[in-house]
Amino acid sequence: MDPILGFDLGTTNSVVSIIKDGKPEVLCDELGQGILPSVVGLASDGRLLVGQEARNQALVAPERTVKSIKRRMGEDVQVPMAGKDYSPQEISAMILRTLKDRAAKALGRTCTKAVITVPAFFSENQREATRQAGEMAGLDVVRIINEPTAASLIYEPHSERNERVLVYDLGGGTFDVSIVQIEQGVVEVLASHGDTHLGGDDFDQLLLDYVCDAFAKEHGVDLREVPTARSRMLQAVEEAKKRLSFDAYTTIAEEFIAEKDGKPLHVNMVIDRREYEPLIEPLLKKTLICVDAALDDAKMHARQIDRVILVGGSTRTPLVHQLLAEQLHQELHSEIDPDQCVALGAAVQGGLIAGVDVGPVLVDITPHTLGIQVLGELHGMVSGDVFSPIIERNTALPASRSEVYYTSHDGQKVVRVDVYQGENRNVRFNQTVGGFALEGLNEEAEQGSEILVRFQLDLDGILTVTAVERKSGLEKQLRIDNAVTRFRAKSQADAKAKLATMFEQAGEETFVDRAITEAAKQPDASEPRFEEAHASIAKARRLIQEAPTEDAAEMRKLVGELQEAVAAADADRVEQVREQLDDLVFYLQDA
Ligand code: AMP
Repeated sequence: MDPILGFDLGTTNSVVSIIKDGKPEVLCDELGQGILPSVVGLASDGRLLVGQEARNQALVAPERTVKSIKRRMGEDVQVPMAGKDYSPQEISAMILRTLKDRAAKALGRTCTKAVITVPAFFSENQREATRQAGEMAGLDVVRIINEPTAASLIYEPHSERNERVLVYDLGGGTFDVSIVQIEQGVVEVLASHGDTHLGGDDFDQLLLDYVCDAFAKEHGVDLREVPTARSRMLQAVEEAKKRLSFDAYTTIAEEFIAEKDGKPLHVNMVIDRREYEPLIEPLLKKTLICVDAALDDAKMHARQIDRVILVGGSTRTPLVHQLLAEQLHQELHSEIDPDQCVALGAAVQGGLIAGVDVGPVLVDITPHTLGIQVLGELHGMVSGDVFSPIIERNTALPASRSEVYYTSHDGQKVVRVDVYQGENRNVRFNQTVGGFALEGLNEEAEQGSEILVRFQLDLDGILTVTAVERKSGLEKQLRIDNAVTRFRAKSQADAKAKLATMFEQAGEETFVDRAITEAAKQPDASEPRFEEAHASIAKARRLIQEAPTEDAAEMRKLVGELQEAVAAADADRVEQVREQLDDLVFYLQDA
């Protein structure tokens, strides 16, 4: 059977994919772009523009451009473009045709068979209109499937297990949440709710207003009133919004954006994630109401959901993760690119129809959360052992994230950046990865001076940690090789299950043994003060194999405690436990 293309015909963006060598893959244009903006236009010379070029002209020539046509699918209307009228099907067909041509170029052959996705709430009319658009584009539409079905297929192509999946899809212009049931390979949408006018575009608008209001206050000029300035600012704030998903703050810089009294005006503004998040929080709260409504309709509690999948570009926003995790008390899955997930799922469906053996999408992810030790609140008490996550587990690699922290007293000269991996709120229960001190801070600075900590984790598991004193720019960097063992998304569940069984069988001892191995492998080079402790641990380790059971157990316990004391940089405790361990080692050596 001919290969079947999978199309995600989105409101903001569209994507085409196919099964290649048993794996779903997005097909890119000559520039390597997988995403095609769902915008169609006619240039002033009459040339048809589809995608980024059309998007670029949308603000300056709206009368020659059509955006978000998906909202009109199924309606008996004509939309004007450069003085002529087109049906929604015709405009959608231009997008599909562009993607079909892209696929032909990428594959070196024409494929006509297609699976196209639509929102779960689409009526029969809307589905039929989508099918017609496909046919107009020269496609043989073998199936129309629901977007949440496609998303769940990509995470579980051959699930024999019965699973209930919640798909939270927040794109550029629309939001929907669906509860999907997979039973013996049959996927059914049990409930779906949403808001067809809520998405990343609203976040852009809110940030645009925030920035333009501040600019107007300072310069007395409203950039929103000048079309070219507005268009530039809209692009600038969207880019800034995207950066804020990974960085704690970012700069919006647009030179010569306007003029006043014959003098040029420039935008140069730093936006903090903490300023941005309150702007969008009310909209995200609305999405949570829809989540509850969908659960109600499906007659389910959040705890009955087996898997939560995030789809749509706007789900990269950290506040989405935070609010949703708090609401559902569940781990969230976003390791497969949220922009590509639906199209990849459509290709999987195509593969299943064509009888192709479809394997999982393999993504490199972080198996553990990586973060640093900070002063904070633990069980209602102030503690210096609080674990502050920076890169959450299951994040696709490579990943870069930054967070801002604060000094704890006036005139603080040094901050320590101690890196841990694990899931516990208390660093003592996580594993130490490495650390360093940022010395020479501005002594004039008061308590609360900002320190930016950035983690960059590459595909080889190399973690680069950078700490910067925000005001002075004082910076220090540490590179940690093998900070994590790479895990591939598919094998992660198996690995987790295997690990859990190992721990069950071996009980506490395995845990202590592991601490010993880590100590031998990874002496904390940044802590020369504790060299003696590492030497004691190494000695103990050599003796453990031959020691009588009781002594070996005691030695393991002390080694574990010493490891924890070193990790917590607790010099007194290190000294105390090291002496006990040395005594035992001395006794055993002589025995
Ligand atoms: P979609 O409709 O799924 O293609 O999503 C497009 C929306 O995702 C647009 O509003 C983008 O600005 C938004 N988006 C893309 N990347 C990010 C990001 N890193 N952080 C926040 N929003 C993003």
